[in-house]
Amino acid sequence: MSSISNINADLHCHSVVSDGTLTPEELAQRAYANGVRLWALTDHDELGGQERAGAAAHALGMDYVAGVEISVTWMGQTIHIVGLGIDSAHMGIVEGLRLTREGRGNRAKLMAEQLLKVGIPGAYEGALYFAGNHDLISRTHFARFLVERGICKDTNQVFKNYLVEDKPGFVPHLWATLDNAVAWIKLAGGVAVIAHPGRYKLNAMQMDALYKHFKDIGGLGIEVITGSHSPDQYLSYGKIAQQYGFLASRGSDFHDPQESYIDLGTLPLLPEHLTPIWSAFH
Ligand code: AMP
Ligand code: MN
Ligand code: MN
Ligand code: MN
Repeated sequence: MSSISNINADLHCHSVVSDGTLTPEELAQRAYANGVRLWALTDHDELGGQERAGAAAHALGMDYVAGVEISVTWMGQTIHIVGLGIDSAHMGIVEGLRLTREGRGNRAKLMAEQLLKVGIPGAYEGALYFAGNHDLISRTHFARFLVERGICKDTNQVFKNYLVEDKPGFVPHLWATLDNAVAWIKLAGGVAVIAHPGRYKLNAMQMDALYKHFKDIGGLGIEVITGSHSPDQYLSYGKIAQQYGFLASRGSDFHDPQESYIDLGTLPLLPEHLTPIWSAFH
């Protein structure tokens, strides 16, 4: 008997509406061609691509749930919360995300000022050129500008030498609170998932506090199989899911055919012993 864990679900990726380089339609086609049968577009802090993504998925005969990846500040660190199965027109989340996006323009100007000080002019305009949505100028767009200028050979090099803590172009930012992000997702009828838990610079005690608090406020899932985890981490976060009683999610976090190591729909399937997040979709 095949279990529902076997579904090729990809529930995390980005379009030009945030910091990806493909349109929602191009992503839908790429996902479907790679065998994805349950898909979500999860742009950062933005729902502007949801209607197009849903329509493109349905035209291909692929199941779709509306999604988002919300930037959150928790214990002084940035973490990401994915919302899945939301009503993307719900006023609470639409307005919450608008406020979350608001500081990005000013942050980008401050990032460019720092880069100017290390001899890199024109970074604000340069990043804006790469931003498909000027309300969502992100570090990824600065990274593409720095690669285009020949300052770094690829975006991975950028995130080692620039735009991160203690390097030029890093501007600390206060994003949404964890409580607000989870409340917006739940009120919009969706389920909240901790994105790529293996990426955070939090110690074991802080991660334990995150899992417990997230669960207390109604968070349901964590990403286990993600483009940000190593095979070892598939195992360790699978154990975390079981230990804390979280549903498990799977998503490539695909942004761009050249930049992203992991293509849509190509990661290992969820392990059968975990309960998939899609068991909670209506
Ligand atoms: P922002 O929301 O403006 O802080 O930008 C965050 C985005 O930068 C993430 O969603 C990733 O797409 C990208 N990013 C952050 N860290 C890295 C990294 N180490 N390697 C590649 N991309 C990264
Ligand atoms: Mn991104
Ligand atoms: Mn993320
Ligand atoms: Mn992402």
